[in-house]
Amino acid sequence: MNPPDVIIVGGGPSGVICATTIAKQGYSVVIIDRKSHDKIGDKTCGDAVDKAALQRVFDGIATEFPNGDEVTDIITKMSVAVHEIDNKITLDAPGFLVDRLIYGQRLLKEAEEAGVRVIDSANVKQLIIEEIDGEKYVSGVKYLKKGEHSLSAKFVIDASGAYAVVRKSLPDELVKHGMKKELSEDEQWPSYREIIELKEDHRFANEIILKYDNDFPPPGYFWIFSKGKQRLNVGIGWAKSQKELGPMRNAYLKEMEKYYPRDSYTVLKQGGGQIPFRVPFDNLVFNGGALVGDAACMVHPVTAEGHGPALDTAWRLGNVIVKALKADNRSMHQLWEYNVEISRHYGRKHTESEILRRMIEDIGTDGLNFLFNAHIFKEEELNLIFSGDEIVLSKLDIVKRIIRLMRKPRLLLKIKKIMGMIDQSKDIFANYPKTSDGIEDWRTLRNNKLNMNY
Ligand SMILES: Cc1cc2nc3c(=O)[nH]c(=O)nc-3n(C[C@H](O)[C@H](O)[C@H](O)COP(=O)(O)OP(=O)(O)OC[C@H]3O[C@@H](n4cnc5c(N)ncnc54)[C@H](O)[C@@H]3O)c2cc1C
Repeated sequence: MNPPDVIIVGGGPSGVICATTIAKQGYSVVIIDRKSHDKIGDKTCGDAVDKAALQRVFDGIATEFPNGDEVTDIITKMSVAVHEIDNKITLDAPGFLVDRLIYGQRLLKEAEEAGVRVIDSANVKQLIIEEIDGEKYVSGVKYLKKGEHSLSAKFVIDASGAYAVVRKSLPDELVKHGMKKELSEDEQWPSYREIIELKEDHRFANEIILKYDNDFPPPGYFWIFSKGKQRLNVGIGWAKSQKELGPMRNAYLKEMEKYYPRDSYTVLKQGGGQIPFRVPFDNLVFNGGALVGDAACMVHPVTAEGHGPALDTAWRLGNVIVKALKADNRSMHQLWEYNVEISRHYGRKHTESEILRRMIEDIGTDGLNFLFNAHIFKEEELNLIFSGDEIVLSKLDIVKRIIRLMRKPRLLLKIKKIMGMIDQSKDIFANYPKTSDGIEDWRTLRNNKLNMNY
C-alpha cells in the first residue's frame, strides 16, 4: 500500500470524524482498528450523547445527528440524586441515548464514502520513529494482522481511546508540556454496566440519572439512563484508587436490588470499561501527530461524558492536520493551534468542573445533600458542575447564599474559594499561550492559582 498522508489508530467516534474531516479535503487517510469491520463503533458505554456537542460537529463538518434506529431514547433531562434516587435535582440536558454500534457503523460508512481506507482486525503495537535535523518524529506504525506489517505516513493520530497505544509508545522526548504516557490510579475509572430489559416499563423516560451514595462516595456514582421503553442502561464506576470499595459488580448488584429485583429484568448486555478521568492534557501534539478523544483525556471529569467531546475535538484536529499538510510541516509547533482551541473550550470547561468535583469529594455525599436541600445552588449553577456552562451571580444571590450558609461557616469558606478559582480560570485559559514558548510559565501559573499539580 502507498503510504497515506495520515494514519488514524482507532475507528471509534474520534477516529472516524477526524478521518472524514481530512479525507473530505482531499488527503489520503487510513484507519487501523483492532476490531473486525462489523464491530467498529461498538463499546461498553452509558450511550448518552450531549446535543450541544453534536450541534458543534454538525456546524463543523455537517455530520447528521443520530437518527432512526441509531437512537434508543431522546433525552431531555439529567438528574443528580443523593442517597435516594428520588432525592434529586433535575436539569435540562438535551441529548440522545444511542445504539453505539449502529451509530458508529454509520459514521464509519461516511468516512469510507469520503475515501478513508480501513484496516480492520489489526492491532497497532509500535511506532516508527525517524530523526530529522536532530529531532524525533513519529512517521508510521507497526501492527499485527496475520503477521507484522509497517505503514508510514506524514501524521499518526492516536484515537485508540483509553488504551492510548500511540501515546504510551511515544519516545520520551516527544512527551512534554503536560502530556503523560500513563495515568495515575486517581485518573482512571474502571466501570461496570448492564443494558437490561424490564418486564414492565420504567419511570425514567427521557431521563438520565447520576446517583451519589455513601457506599461509593464521590467521584464514584451509579447511573440509570433510559434506553427507551422497558430498557435501561445502568452502571457504576469509581476511581481505580478507591480500592477499599471492593468488587464493583457486587456494589452494582446491591444498588440495583433497591430498584429492581434480579428476577424483574433480563440482562441484554453486560461488561466493563475504562474511562480516563482527568482534565485534558495541556499539550496534545507532538512531531508527526496528535491525540484525540479518550486518548487525549477529553472526558468530562464529573459526568464521564466523553462521546460528544470525542466527536467535537476530532473535526477540529482534522482541520489543523489539513493545514499542516498544506504547509508541509509536521512539527509540534505547526500543530500547536489545536492545543489553543481545545484548551480554550474543553480545557477551561473541564478544569472548572474538576474544581467542583474536588469540592464534591471534599464535602462528600452528606455535604452535597445539604447543598441541594438548602437550595444553595440553583439549577443553572449546577449546570456548571455537570455540563460546564458559565454562571453569573448577582450580589443579591451571593448575600442570600451567605445567609443560608451562616450555620456552616466552613462550607461557606470552601464555596467562596471554589467560586474564586472558577472566576480566575476564565482568564487563565483565555491566555493559554499561542506557541509552545510560554507553556511552562502558563502551567506554573495555572497550577498555583487553581491549586492543581498537573
Ligand atoms: C462504561 C462507560 C460508560 C460511558 N458512558 C458514557 C456516556 O454515557 N456518555 C458519554 O458521552 N461518554 C461515555 N463514556 C465515554 C465514551 O465511551 C468515550 O468517551 C468515547 O467512546 C471516546 O471515543 P474515542 O473514539 O476516543 O475512543 P473509543 O470509542 O474507545 O474508540 C477507540 C478505538 O480504538 C481501537 N483500538 C484501541 N487500541 C487499539 C490498537 N492497539 N490498535 C488498533 N485499534 C485500537 C478500539 O478497538 C476502538 O475502536 C463511557 C465510557 C465507559 C467505559
